[in-house]
Amino acid sequence: MSMNMRKCLYCERTSDEAPIIVFQYLDSEYGICPQHLPILIHKPAQLSEKLPGAETFGPSEGHNH
Ligand SMILES: [Zn+2]
Repeated sequence: MSMNMRKCLYCERTSDEAPIIVFQYLDSEYGICPQHLPILIHKPAQLSEKLPGAETFGPSEGHNH
């Protein structure tokens, strides 16, 4: 069993250091902390190295700043 879901996939903080929100993707579970949850929502492409295919999440609406 992987421990990936117990830490933020972006900053790798664990649930000892920050609340970790667990989500499921491609039959696997991942965790992300509240600080980086907005990246998952708004800029998933930044996570594409850690989440294969993340750049295809949802409509981007061309809303890039
Ligand atoms: Zn984080």
